[in-house]
Amino acid sequence: MQKMTAPEPYARITPTADIRNSAHGGRAKCLQRLVRLDMPVPATVALPFGTVRKLAMGHAPDVPAILAEFGDGPLVSVRPSSEDPDWGGPGAILNIGMNQTRHAALTDELGQEAADTLYLRFIQTFAVHVARLDPDEFSTTRASASTIAQALKAFEDETDDLFPQDPVTQLTQVLRAMAQAWEGTTARLLRQAKGAPADAGLGLVVQEMAMGLGPGESGSGVIQFANSATGQRQIVGRYLSKGQGRASLTGGSAELFMTRDPRGPSLEERSPEAFAQLCALGDKARVRLREEMQIEFTIENGGLKVLDAVRIARNARAAVRIAVDLAQDGVIERDDALLRVQPRALTELLHKQVDPRGSRDRVALGIAASPGAAAGKVVFSSAAAQASAARGEACILVRRETTPEDIRGMHAAAGVLTERGGMTSHAAVIARGLGLPAVVGASGLVLNRRDKSFRVADGRVIREGDVITVDGTSGEALAGTVDMLEPALDDAFQALLEWAEDACDIGVRANADTPEDAKNARMFGADGIGLCRTEHMFFEEDRLTVMREMIFANTAQDRAAALEQLLPMQRVDFTRLFDIMQGSPVCIRLFDPPLHEFLPHDREGMRELATALDLPLSDVTRRIDALTEFNPMLGMRGVRLGITVPEIYDMQARAIFEATITAQRNGIIVVPEIMIPLVSAKREVELVKSRIDAVAAAVRTAEAAEFDYRLGVMVETPRAALRSGEIAHHASFLSFGTNDLTQMTYGLSRDDAGRFMGPYVQQEVFPEDPFHSLDVEGVGELLEIGSDRGRKTRPDVVLSVCGEHGGNPESIAFCRNAGFNYVSCSPFRVPIARLAAAHHAL
Ligand code: PEP
Ligand code: MG
Repeated sequence: MQKMTAPEPYARITPTADIRNSAHGGRAKCLQRLVRLDMPVPATVALPFGTVRKLAMGHAPDVPAILAEFGDGPLVSVRPSSEDPDWGGPGAILNIGMNQTRHAALTDELGQEAADTLYLRFIQTFAVHVARLDPDEFSTTRASASTIAQALKAFEDETDDLFPQDPVTQLTQVLRAMAQAWEGTTARLLRQAKGAPADAGLGLVVQEMAMGLGPGESGSGVIQFANSATGQRQIVGRYLSKGQGRASLTGGSAELFMTRDPRGPSLEERSPEAFAQLCALGDKARVRLREEMQIEFTIENGGLKVLDAVRIARNARAAVRIAVDLAQDGVIERDDALLRVQPRALTELLHKQVDPRGSRDRVALGIAASPGAAAGKVVFSSAAAQASAARGEACILVRRETTPEDIRGMHAAAGVLTERGGMTSHAAVIARGLGLPAVVGASGLVLNRRDKSFRVADGRVIREGDVITVDGTSGEALAGTVDMLEPALDDAFQALLEWAEDACDIGVRANADTPEDAKNARMFGADGIGLCRTEHMFFEEDRLTVMREMIFANTAQDRAAALEQLLPMQRVDFTRLFDIMQGSPVCIRLFDPPLHEFLPHDREGMRELATALDLPLSDVTRRIDALTEFNPMLGMRGVRLGITVPEIYDMQARAIFEATITAQRNGIIVVPEIMIPLVSAKREVELVKSRIDAVAAAVRTAEAAEFDYRLGVMVETPRAALRSGEIAHHASFLSFGTNDLTQMTYGLSRDDAGRFMGPYVQQEVFPEDPFHSLDVEGVGELLEIGSDRGRKTRPDVVLSVCGEHGGNPESIAFCRNAGFNYVSCSPFRVPIARLAAAHHAL
């Protein structure tokens, strides 16, 4: 049982000390694990959150007693230890205790150069990070008696005080400065962006310095046994002979471990024993800590010291590979591997990349902040991004820098480009979280928001609406669209998906309208197609014309002629889908056109249509006027068209049944699922059902073939949810279309909500955009009512959600709790939905 007593104000880390992640932070806890594994860790003292909080308010613990833990005249370091290492913390401060006396002693022990370097660095670090003096005054890199004297003098001039010589004073001030840095607004915002609670605490660890300088083989390094970018097992590290601290390893002089590194002898060559010892410790840490760790170490005259170990940094691809490798090696359970990968992180693996073989017209170069590539029209505001998304147009959000107000726009954008910012800027952090391709800090880009344009280094001006491609993998923005590579999905990814499939207790299907979508659905292991929006099969130019002919037909005869042309097209469509899905369920939604989407919107389009239909332009405009609705999303959509012009659904049913027979003749057993959209009354279902049954009978006779099919209803009006008890008499499945159901429950236009969603969410009118994450309280209640009433009538009725929410991890939890059979979402969200469902089930 967890000890509930308050921790001591500080504790020496020993195998049995009371060190807790929740009280001392992850680093302290991990160091204790290393101590328990008998690793050569220097003496370490942990300060819990409570002590650090008091320090920030000016109450220091018993610093002389803490220093006494390290024996006589030690140098120590202080490192942050937050509960979650991702929340960061102030930088480490080394060599506390350096003063004139110590400098003189070290000069004898390690030599003049090493002693000077240590002292100068400490003065500089203390001045900048503890006394908060101007870094420019303390930037000299060359250590000598005179630069030390200058630094001491600068300190004195700036503070009116001598540089503290007393180690107790030094350590007290360091501890207080680190405690206060944690409480700063910027630090708080940064960690909250990573999910830290507002009151997240900071622990500190004080550790005896291992010098890494001096006689014999001495130096510092980090080593890890898996690649942070790919997750592959591989020794990667850096070692700097006669170097100290992690910071010293970032310079160009550090040597890679790779033995064939051209920059000089590797650690393996310099000290094969230490290298072998490190490899053994790495193996031990992997197995006993059940994680790939990066070990920070120091070698002192050939002797190895382990200063710290952290989970290796990793991108999503590496996270998957590492989790799968650990499970396959029997280090962790498969369930554990699943839980170690965040569902949303999978987007990073799933994204398109710019094809390196294609040509690139670079307009800007910045920091590759979030991987993947996306093309879209340039927009300059969140509102414009949301409007663009509502129109179904991909857009790239271009901003000077982003702020939390831009999050909604970032959700809506396909990619992000900013003039300012770095790897940890808001845009970068948020984009990575969303799996959105992003380039930040694009140099040479000058934004002119008033003009809605930006100028790039070569003088070109890109305006709102121009298409660009953001390559978040290389850090480039490119003009226009470019060839892209589909995501590379490796064996580790596939293994993880298979395990997720085994673990999950709710089905995941894909919304797929085209053969391409269906192939992706299969590739991602979807349990079938949960929604095929048949109207989407008619957006291609040649088909659109026939569709318009059908819509414009004045007489039954003309309509029949147009439908006659559409029938073979649909038959081919369905045959292809059945073929690709190889017997997995395919749920086809009958035509649900907001009619305006099929009508030309400008004069040019109308003229073209008049030509195609061989009608005078005036006839076409008159007919368009007649068909134009004030509110097309609530107009002649879905089943309303099916009832008014029943020949359309007849044609689709026939195409589905004929394709079913073709599939059967090809050895694929298909039981097609036919779904009626936008139902609000039982009678609608009865009317459609009787016609579809009649078509089925006619096809069976004509083809002398047998087949089954299932008829279901989309529950996407509040009335359908309320009346699902009687609707279920005629429906073997109910699929909740939560996009329309949200629209109609709120009375909130799907296409216009973006205009005010930002202020609404900011002012907490809505906790979240309800089109993004299911409104559990309102729309959710309708789902519960609908499913309960449906199941009461027909206990075996199959229940699903096929709106956008089907791919949202939180909404999936709701569907699972409500006992739904499956969710259906776009193919690329299937892996995320699958893993989220597995997480909920575990
Ligand atoms: C829905 O309304 O939730 C749905 C899936 O249908 P569509 O988005 O095509 O209206
Ligand atoms: Mg709908």
